[in-house]
Amino acid sequence: MSVLVTGGAGFIGSHTAVVLLDHGEDIVILDNFSNSSPDMLDGIRRITGKDFKFYEGDMRDKALLDRVFTENKIESVIHFAGLKAVGESVEKPLEYYDNNINGTLCILEAMRKYGCKIMIFSSSATVYGNDNPVPFVEGMKTSATNPYGWTKVFIEHILEGVCESDKEFSAVLLRYFNPIGAHKSGLIGEKPNGIPNNIMPYIMKVAAGEYDHLNVFGDDYDTPDGTGVRDYIHVVDLANGHLSALEYARKNKGAEAVNLGTGKGTSVLELVAAVEKASDRKIPYVITARRPGDIAECYADVSKAKRVLNWQAQYDVDDMCADNARWALKQ
Ligand code: NAD
Ligand code: UDP
Repeated sequence: MSVLVTGGAGFIGSHTAVVLLDHGEDIVILDNFSNSSPDMLDGIRRITGKDFKFYEGDMRDKALLDRVFTENKIESVIHFAGLKAVGESVEKPLEYYDNNINGTLCILEAMRKYGCKIMIFSSSATVYGNDNPVPFVEGMKTSATNPYGWTKVFIEHILEGVCESDKEFSAVLLRYFNPIGAHKSGLIGEKPNGIPNNIMPYIMKVAAGEYDHLNVFGDDYDTPDGTGVRDYIHVVDLANGHLSALEYARKNKGAEAVNLGTGKGTSVLELVAAVEKASDRKIPYVITARRPGDIAECYADVSKAKRVLNWQAQYDVDDMCADNARWALKQ
C-alpha cells in the first residue's frame, strides 16, 4: 500500500516525503513541476537512500490519475499540490480556482473510484481571515480575503461534505502557520520562482547580496515593536505533523481541522535579528507602508494538535534560521 503525495516535489511536500520514507512508508509522488524542479526529488533520494515512484503531470489529468491509481495500491493521499501566491491569486482568480479546487475534485473523484478514503490536506492559517482574535483556535469561523484563501476555505468545506456523505472517509485539514527552515542536510528547501512574496526567502536573497535591503511592511502595528507578528514553524516539524495526521486518520473517521504552528509569535524585526545571528551577515532593512491585507498578529493555539495528533513543534526560530541559511546561501 502506498501514500500518494501530490505536490511532493515542492517545499513542504519534499520534506514530508523524507519523513514518510524514513518511517518506512511506500510513497508515490505526483507533481507537474509548475513551482518546483526534479532536483528536489534527487534531494529526497539522497537524504533517505530510498527510491519511490514519480509521475510527472497535472492532478487535473484524469487519465494520469487512472494510471496512478491502477498501477499502485494507493491507501491515502497527502495533498500538497496547489498554487499558493496570494497576490497572483488576485490577478488570476480563475487559474487559482481551477488548479486548486478543480484539481482537488479530480483527486477526490479518483479516490472514490478506487476506494481510497484518507486525505491529509494542506490548509492554511489564512482561513482564519482578518476578524478573529489571536491565538487562532480551530473552532473559529473561517473566511478569506483573496482567491487563494477562498480555495482553502472551500476545499475544507468540500472535505467536510465528503466525510458527511461517506462515514468511512477520514480527512485531516492541517492549517499551517508560517513554514520556514530547510532540511539539515542542505539538500532540500524552498526555491521560489521570481521575486519572493514571503519574508524568509526574501531575507535570504538580501543575505546572499542579491537584493540590497528588506522592505519591512509597517512598524505601526499594535505589536511589541510595531512590526507584524507571525507563528514561524520549521518545515521539518510541519513534515512530522503529516505523519502524525496520517496515523490519526488511519484510526479515526470524519473531518478534523488542526493547527500546525508553534504557538509563539515572532516579529519581523526579531526574525531579521535571528537571521543575522544565524548567518553572520547583516540584513539591511527599510520601513515601508503596510502591505494591503496584512494582519498585525497571527499565531496558533496548538493545544488541539497536541491532544488529537500527539504532535508538537520541536524547533525554535534560531534553528529555523540556521537551517534556512545553510540551504539558501549555498544555492
Ligand atoms: P510549493 O509550490 O513548493 O509546492 C506545491 C507543489 O505542487 C509544487 O511542486 C507544484 O509544482 C505542484 N503543483 C501545483 N499545481 C499542480 C498541479 N495542478 N498538478 C500537479 N502538481 C501541482 O508549495 P508549498 O509551500 O510546499 O505548499 C504546499 C501546500 O501547502 C500548498 O497547497 C500551499 O497552498 C499550502 N500552504 C503553504 C504555506 C506556505 O507558506 N508555504 C502555508 C500554508 C499552506
Ligand atoms: N513582510 C515584510 N517584508 C516582506 C515580506 C513580508 O515585512 O518583504 C512581513 C509581512 O508584513 C508579515 C510577515 O513579514 O508581517 C510575514 O509575511 P509573509 O508574506 O511571509 O507571510 P504571511 O503574511 O502570509 O503570514
